Amino acid sequence: MTMGVTDLLAHIPPPAVRRLALRVRPAAQRALRQGHPWLFEQAVIQQPDAPGNPGDLAVIFDDQRRFLAIGLYDPTSLIRVRILQRGAPATINQTWFAAQLAAAAARRAALPGQGTTGYRLLHGENDGLPGLVIDRYDAVLVLKIYTLAWIPHLTTVLAALAEVIPAQAVVLRLSRDLQRQPVWLHGLADGMTLAGDLPDAAVRFHENGLCFEADVLRGQKTGFFFDQRENRARVATLAAGRRTLNVFAYTGGFSLYAASGGAPEVVSLDLSAPALAAAVRNFELNRHLPAVAAATHTVLAADAFDALTHLRQRGQRFDLVIVDPPALAKQESEMSGALRAYRRLTHLALGVLEPAGTLVMASCSSRISAADFYATVEQAAVEAGRPLQPFAHSGHAVDHPIGFAEGAYLKCLFATVR
Ligand code: SAH
Repeated sequence: MTMGVTDLLAHIPPPAVRRLALRVRPAAQRALRQGHPWLFEQAVIQQPDAPGNPGDLAVIFDDQRRFLAIGLYDPTSLIRVRILQRGAPATINQTWFAAQLAAAAARRAALPGQGTTGYRLLHGENDGLPGLVIDRYDAVLVLKIYTLAWIPHLTTVLAALAEVIPAQAVVLRLSRDLQRQPVWLHGLADGMTLAGDLPDAAVRFHENGLCFEADVLRGQKTGFFFDQRENRARVATLAAGRRTLNVFAYTGGFSLYAASGGAPEVVSLDLSAPALAAAVRNFELNRHLPAVAAATHTVLAADAFDALTHLRQRGQRFDLVIVDPPALAKQESEMSGALRAYRRLTHLALGVLEPAGTLVMASCSSRISAADFYATVEQAAVEAGRPLQPFAHSGHAVDHPIGFAEGAYLKCLFATVR
């Protein structure tokens, strides 16, 4: 560890010794009792103490002044408190964090035996630690925080983490919102190595026996989209002998699975040239597999909407088309635009799909329900005169458990043109 980071961590002011006592509206009390992990700003009706800093612990009481929950306070966020524990009071310390981390690790215990050393070790709210994600890339852990409230607890969380899952390095990633709050970061920055040594930003790991590298410092999310692992595995089973197009390919996850499953030709299409360069390297890393060595892999750095139009005009057709766009609706106001984009993407994908081809369409927009997404895609296919026969609908893998309604974001449709 560099001295710089040790010093920075040591100088972060600890959370206040006194917990903030909050009284909240009845609707919020009900939501908390039902297990909801967030308390919104407007639900707070009484806060007698000083305003409090990010990371202070808040205790929430009901109308009879009975303990309801304890959580991480963040005055800079509309989510004022993220709940750590409800029902019975608890001391939030290294032992408590270690217990949560151990429970999360136990839920994923089967993965390494399945050839998977890269996966989500801790999935925020859904694993009891709201606003905190930890992804494991073999011996490297990437800790991503979505609220400033974690900063005063980092030293304790790192100690708990070292107890539960020893790592070569622990890297810090900050959500985009947090990177705009320099005052509260106390000198910490996105991409800092908090513990251990990271010799190279490109970290290798295995997923279902395939080898990948991910850039844990500059990559999207924490470097890789682990949530699609099971959908990628299904694609491998569909790919034998089929010319495959992977739209929004990022670093070629679906592409490599298709090749390993016997696709003779795979095209990876993405806007990001660095992501596609990584996709090429990921193919190289697996050339020892005969199916991967036999596949022709081409990359296309372009806007998906434009490129799909051009491919269709040039008469290019594929037997298997995968479309896994970025989140198209992060806010409610973007929902109708997102549904229009899914409709448009369905039309464009069908335009390059062979008559009896297979379409794989995913959505990671939490605002769009599974029912609305599937209906939109299927309706668009009917409009296009190419009705679909869905044969699988799938969602979250074991390392992305769903702990509350907002936690269910991923849906994926597998369908064949009738
Ligand atoms: N399927 C990938 C993850 C996709 S993430 C996997 O399994 O790993 C979404 C990707 O869409 C990102 O790589 C991003 O660069 C790309 N992207 C965003 N907008 C785009 C656009 N208009 N055209 C093409 N690619 C785009």
